[in-house]
Parts: sequence; C-alpha cells; structure tokens
Amino acid sequence: MSTYALNFGAGPAKIPQAVLLKAQKEFLNVHGTGMSVMELSHRSKPFGAILEKTKKDLTELMKIPSNYTILFMQGGATTEFASVFYNLVATKQQELKQAGKEGEEIVVDYLVTGAWSSKAAQEAERLIPTVIGNPVRVNRAVNVKQSNGKFGVIPPASEWKLTDAKKHNVAYVYYCDNETVHGVEFQSIPQIDASVPLVTDVSSNFLSRPIDVSKFGIVYGGAQKNLGPAGVTIVVVRNDLLVDLNVGPIRPLMLDFKTAADNDSMYNTPPTFAIYMVGLTLEWLKEQGGLDGIQKANNRKSEKLYKVIDDSKIYTSPVAKDCRSHMNVVFNLTTEELEKEFLKGAEEKNMHQLKGHRSVGGVRASIYNALPEEDLTTPFPYFFSCKRDDFM
Ligand code: PLP
Repeated sequence: MSTYALNFGAGPAKIPQAVLLKAQKEFLNVHGTGMSVMELSHRSKPFGAILEKTKKDLTELMKIPSNYTILFMQGGATTEFASVFYNLVATKQQELKQAGKEGEEIVVDYLVTGAWSSKAAQEAERLIPTVIGNPVRVNRAVNVKQSNGKFGVIPPASEWKLTDAKKHNVAYVYYCDNETVHGVEFQSIPQIDASVPLVTDVSSNFLSRPIDVSKFGIVYGGAQKNLGPAGVTIVVVRNDLLVDLNVGPIRPLMLDFKTAADNDSMYNTPPTFAIYMVGLTLEWLKEQGGLDGIQKANNRKSEKLYKVIDDSKIYTSPVAKDCRSHMNVVFNLTTEELEKEFLKGAEEKNMHQLKGHRSVGGVRASIYNALPEEDLTTPFPYFFSCKRDDFM
C-alpha cells in the first residue's frame, strides 16, 4: 500500500500534508509545554494563545469586520440547522416585541438547491412547533429538485420567490453556498433585501475563495472538508443578531450563540484538538497566498477536470455550467457498470474516495484546498487517459 494516497474524499477529507507533518512534529510537545495539545486544559495559557491566534488568522483571511464574532461550535454543521433557526427567530421575536407587533407571523426563506439546504429547511420546519408566541412559516423561495430526485441547477434570481420583507416579518434568508452532494455552487452572493440577515452554509467551500462577510448575518461551516478534522463548526455571526437566552424559543444552551459569544466559545470544553488543527490549516492557507491565492489554484484544478468531462464522450456532468462546484466535481459515466469499472480502476491507481454520495451514485471528485494541483496530473493521469476502450 502506498504511503501517499490521492484522496478525493468529500469529508472528512484531505488535510494539507504540511499541516499533518507540523501536527506530527508537535504531537507530544506543543509550543514547548511538554504536553500534547490534547492534554492541555482549554483554560490554560498555551491553549488560550492557540485560540486567539486561530481567531486572528481567520479574521485576517476572511477580512471579518469588527462587528462580527467568531464562534467555535460543536455537533457538526447539522446542529447549526437548528441553531440558526432558534437564534434568528429569537432575534426576530425580540424585534417584533419592541415594535409592538407581538404575535405576528414570522417567515424564514430557504433557497433549496441541493441535499444540505433541503435538510436545513426540513429541520426548520420540524422545529416550528417549539416556537411560542408567533406562528412561523418556512418558505422555499427556490426549490429545484428535479423529477428524478436530483439537483443540478440554480435558477436565475428573477425566478426566486423570496418573501417581501416590506410586507412580512422575514427572520432570515438561508442558502448553502456549495452543495457537497450534488456539486452545485453559487457563483456570487444572492442579492436580497438588505434589512434581512443572509445566512450561508459554507461547510464544503469554506475559505476556498474570498468572501464579503459584511453581506451576511451568519456564515458557518464544519471544519472537516477545508479546515481540518471533524469536531468543530465555525460560526461567524453579526453581533446585532445575538440575543439573550431568555428571549425567543427555549433552546439548549449549547445551541445559543450569545452564550457561546459571552464565554468565548468555552461555555463547556471546546474540541481543542480540532481547533488546533484548524489553526495550523489557517497558517498554511496564508502561505498559499490567502484566499486570492487559493482561489486561483482552485479555479485551475476545477477547470481542468470539467474540461476533461466536457471534452469526453464517456463522462457527463449533471450540473448546469453556470453553477458547477469548484470543490466537488460530480460526474457520471454512460452506464452504472462503467462507473463501477471506473471506480475499481481508480482504486488500483491509488485514487481513493471517488464514489458519489450514496443518495445520487456516480462519481464525485472532491478537490478541496488541500488537494495539490499535481495530484490531478501525476503520477496517474487517470481522468485524462480514460477512454471508452479502457472499459471494454
Ligand atoms: N452542510 C454541508 C454543505 C455539508 O457538506 C455537510 C456534510 O457533509 C453538512 C452540512 C453536515 O455536516 P455535519 O456532518 O458536520 O453535520
């Protein structure tokens, strides 16, 4: 077995080799403490320094404005489906109360463009009965599941059915910037009414390109694709959206953003090792030229793969050209049998974790920040050499 695998996994995913080597070097003795980072108290000085540096580097890379707070949350990105709903409905309830509009309906808008935004909308719907005092409605302003159950397009904004914030109480507009399962990515930030907080799940394209944080109420993502190991979810939240725990729906303490903010993400024990690894990844990212630098590399990598797919007679992309993901390149071969052959051949050529998500099948090459450009060309230019004859 080779000691270096060409890892196209969707997540947990490849971590930059340099980051792993640094972590390995420091494994038993981090920052001269004589202890592993896993053995340090989260309230110790050395861990405090790691947390601060991680926040500083993230602020620098994302150019996070000073009226935002970085939170390190737990429970994966899935937990944020509930947290976003609870916290932003709470903010809206507070606002309505102050405006003497108690009891009015609250609407939450979702742009459903793939599996993850669909799940987030379902979770919001499921939690509606827990809100006391105001009826809440989920509006799927975009809902593009095709008759075969697949996603693959983002309709033009003129076709979105966003709720009119002048006439209704819209708590937020939610979308998933990059749909990991279906390989669908927004190419720009949706334009919405500026008075409504915009929320985005960037779990699978976090820090893959520059982002204008000031356009958002909340930007969040799990770490295990572009930022490190599973176990920590980063939430960047605008401070005016943080409300007291006793306002709005009763919610578990661990889902409450203000509790996390007031305690510097240490209301309980945070996932210290995962945060440390995120910190090392951010340092690496700065060395790659920050978000501008990594975006250029990501564009080159994805263009290369899509060109192979579009030029070929055996590969097809199920995703419209104007919304193809730079991170998760999803494609099919002409028959399921050929797909099996392709995946078998790939494994033999040291290319791993290429199988499409179990709900959609096909092939998915996840080419996150950490995947070096050389891994798409050497030593096995499999994508480039595969001809139909290879499978006959
Ligand atoms: N959102 C997106 C875009 C994802 O890709 C995933 C996981 O793959 C999730 C949410 C759920 O993340 P988790 O498994 O950390 O809850």
